[in-house]
Order: sequence, then structure tokens, then C-alpha cells
Amino acid sequence: MGLSILIIDDSKAIRDTVKEYLQKTSLFENYLEASNGLEGFKIMLKQNIDLVICDIVMPGISGFQFLALKGSKPEFQEIQVIMLTAEGSVDQKVKGLEQGASDYVIKPFDPAELIARVKVQLKIRSLQESLRELSITDGLTKTYNRRYLIELMKKEFYRAKRNKSSLSFILLDIDHFKSINDTYGHQQGDSILADLVPILEKGIRRHEYVARYGGEEFALLLPETDLKGAMIVGEKIRREVQGFKFTGQNEPLNITISLGVATFHDNNIETVDHLIKAADDALYRAKRNGRNRVESVDPEDRIFGIGGEG
Ligand SMILES: [Mg+2]
Repeated sequence: MGLSILIIDDSKAIRDTVKEYLQKTSLFENYLEASNGLEGFKIMLKQNIDLVICDIVMPGISGFQFLALKGSKPEFQEIQVIMLTAEGSVDQKVKGLEQGASDYVIKPFDPAELIARVKVQLKIRSLQESLRELSITDGLTKTYNRRYLIELMKKEFYRAKRNKSSLSFILLDIDHFKSINDTYGHQQGDSILADLVPILEKGIRRHEYVARYGGEEFALLLPETDLKGAMIVGEKIRREVQGFKFTGQNEPLNITISLGVATFHDNNIETVDHLIKAADDALYRAKRNGRNRVESVDPEDRIFGIGGEG
């Protein structure tokens, strides 16, 4: 999808000029315009914007006030703003940069300079995106990493609390993984971890998440799924894994997994930490009860498990 730029200036002539210059490049697909800071801010609330070019002196909400509004929204943090300033006003340039603008262009501006400065900002943006991607991804399995999982859990927990909906969490662990590593080497172990991910992804729905929790442990986060539903998801995945032929060195390998399920609202859980602890306890139970099983605890703390015919 093409990028969107928002041009904020009270002068239509300047908006038209900026637009005309930029349209000579193919950097943007969408051009949005506003004649003051408030109007610009309202557009940002409704649409995805990739870059803003913003005048300083405007009737109503000025460019500086726009920066303050934008600064109040964490989700707008990574949207770069290039300020349009009048020639010679060093104070304004400094103030704009201090208040969160990324760069400025002096009016009247040269098209080549404007385009060059816009390109720099887009480059920064794409670097930021790659960094963000790296910071939330597990290098080996390309699933989310644990740190990002915790971030997602906090968000989903809050949402479940507010909407009085369920939130299930599954911790799963490859059975006897250490002996696979010891017998076949770590490379084989790594390839099993990577092969497992598509099975996990196939087992969940679009708004659900897979993350590598650590070592040979993975986590599934299932919003709007109650304990019973999560047990079914877990059992389905357990069977899939049991039946799957993992790529081995000479012949295919079979592995099994153990799963622990916990659900906010169904279990006696009040925090994200409780939710993790409950799933971890359930996983421990699955291990203790013979592995290759799905286990949970019900509100009375009775054992409630399925699977384990292998
Ligand atoms: Mg103006």
C-alpha cells in the first residue's frame, strides 16, 4: 500500500505547491490537506499518515500546538513532521525541533530540497520500522519474542477486563527436547523449533498470537476464547504435532508436546502474572502426568486434562 502525506498550511497556494512538487516523485499515493493544526490532528486520528509537513503560523491551532497535540498520542510518536518556517527565524526552527519536529524547510522552498528532506524522513521511518520488527521478533522462529508477548498480554488482558470477555493463554513445551539435542545436535533441535511454528500458526485464528516463550517453549494467546475453547485448540495442536513428520537427518522424526492452559475469567486470575503462572502450573501438571497432554485447572483447582494416548 502506498504512503500517505498530510500537508498542513493555512495557505492553499503553499499546500498546492508542496503537493505539486511531491507529485513529481512517486513517494506518496495519498495526499491529505488541512488548513490548521486541529484539522490536521483530526485527520491523523482517522487515517494512517506516514509523514506530515506542517506550517507554523496558522489561525486557530498553530504548528507548535499541532506538535503538542501529536505528542500527546503515543501511537503518533513515530510519524515524522517537517516544519515549514519563514526565512531567518532561528527561534522558530529551534522551538519546532525541540517540540518534536524532525526537520524544517524554509519558505520559499526549492523543490529539490523539499524532496530531498522528505526522502530523508521516509528513510528514517523505514529504518525505524525494521528496528521495531527486529525488536519484537524471535530470530530463529520468526514468531513474536517473549518481550513483545508480555506487551500483547497486558493489552489483551486490559481489553478482556474492560469488555468482560475471556482471554486464554497456552504454554507448550516440546517433550524430551534435551534428548533430541543430545542425540541429533542443536541444529536438528533448531530445525524442529522452526518446523513447529507453522503447525502452531495453523492451529489458531487470525487475531490470535504465537510467541516463542523461551528455549523449546512456545506461548499462544487467544483473545475471546474461554477455557473450554482453548482446551480444544490445545488438543487439536497436540494431535497435529503428534502426527507430523519432522525433518530429520536420515529419517523423519516424531515429537510430542505438552500444553498448559489458563483462562482469565474462568480461572481465579487477576493479573497477567497470574495468568502466566496458572498456565505454567498446568504445563507442569501435563509433564508430571505423562507428557503429550493438555492440562488446565478449573476454579476448584481440580485436574482437567485431555490427550496422552502416546
Ligand atoms: Mg501560515
